Amino acid sequence: MINGEHTPVRTKPWNFGLHSTEEFGELEKELVLGVIDKKRVFRYSGGDRAQSEAYRLEELYRSRTGANHALALNAGTSALVTALIGAGIGPGDEVIVPAYTYIATAAAVLIARAVPVIVEIDDSLTLDPKAFEAAITPYTKAVIPVHMRGVPCRMDEIMTIANKHGLIVIEDVAQANGGSYKGKPLGSFGRAGCFSFQQYKLVTAGEGGMLVTNDDTVYARANIYHDSAFVYWDQNVANSHPPFPGENYRLSEINAALALAQSQRIDELIVKLQQIKQTITAGIEDLSQIRLQTIPDSEGDVSYSLVFYLPTAEQAQAFSARLAKEGIPNGTINNNGFADRHIYKNWSYVMEKRGASEHDTPWNCQSYKGNVSYSPDMCPKSLDWLNRAIGIGLHQRMTEEDCQDVIQAIRVTAASM
Ligand SMILES: *Cc1c(COP(=O)(O)O)cnc(C)c1O
Repeated sequence: MINGEHTPVRTKPWNFGLHSTEEFGELEKELVLGVIDKKRVFRYSGGDRAQSEAYRLEELYRSRTGANHALALNAGTSALVTALIGAGIGPGDEVIVPAYTYIATAAAVLIARAVPVIVEIDDSLTLDPKAFEAAITPYTKAVIPVHMRGVPCRMDEIMTIANKHGLIVIEDVAQANGGSYKGKPLGSFGRAGCFSFQQYKLVTAGEGGMLVTNDDTVYARANIYHDSAFVYWDQNVANSHPPFPGENYRLSEINAALALAQSQRIDELIVKLQQIKQTITAGIEDLSQIRLQTIPDSEGDVSYSLVFYLPTAEQAQAFSARLAKEGIPNGTINNNGFADRHIYKNWSYVMEKRGASEHDTPWNCQSYKGNVSYSPDMCPKSLDWLNRAIGIGLHQRMTEEDCQDVIQAIRVTAASM
């Protein structure tokens, strides 16, 4: 049947929602107003440091991930930069990143003065372990697996390969806060795990980030880099490592309070999201026209994204348009009419090896002996998966009726293909 000749499956407006801000409520107000009442908006100002909101937030992430250390930061990007610099990565080093991740993952490597090496993703839309191993050179120092769209990476394979080659693993958990792999929290596998509290993540503080690690040196160095004056605030940590110049990546107490309120909702949000995703998946998994995204561990999937593939890019675009006519907002992941900042070919400053300085970049600095190259077609498998992928955003306030409409609309569209 052709759309337009029948009534769309969904006629009433779509139930839009965003996981994070949707939940702003009394707890967020209480904790944020509490900061104003206490008149303490800077974590290192007077009073008991352990009573600061930033410290309490760190305590929560230590307990959530089982890490010995946590450091609150002003962004997820800052968490990645401090993790890399904390782990001693810098000029001359190559760091492997997946072809599909927010551009900040690659930018963080460059800010640490190292060189990003871009490798293929597979049908999980996360790092392909084989492509990762094939990309290792004598200069490779680290790898950043990114748990994209809430989906845990193939951590068993990735950790085995990293250990075999003596590489540092830094997990980018910005999109998968609260997710796990085989029962172990994401962020607890590598040398460090990096979270973001930006608005589009599962929980938000507007802006904010968190680094977790078991490594004392990473923690000390991350502290030093996150604050140019760190040695004056905390003698204990600072004494464990000689200071060097840092930035200012500190988290404000207001943002910390908001992140603290929101982070208490993570598990409850994921339970709801998993129910929704499982309902929809069960209603479409028998369809022969589509193939569901491979999820390396569905029990650890944060579950705010449903992805499936069509056999060709053209079919994916046709499917996407018909599904939209059935009243279900969706998008193909690549070729969606805009340059998606999550796809490597659109990272112009990486593709063109451009830094802030014209004559001194991580690629042309004296320490770098490798010869990485980039081109928009360097990861054809990744582009193929992304071209053929259709994504539907899920949120915790979707009703049973919303789920049934998604199922029905996908079934009607599949039957029309
Ligand atoms: C959002 C995001 C970041 C960066 O987080 P910010 O808080 O925006 O700096 C890094 N990596 C991934 C995969 C992200 O989605």
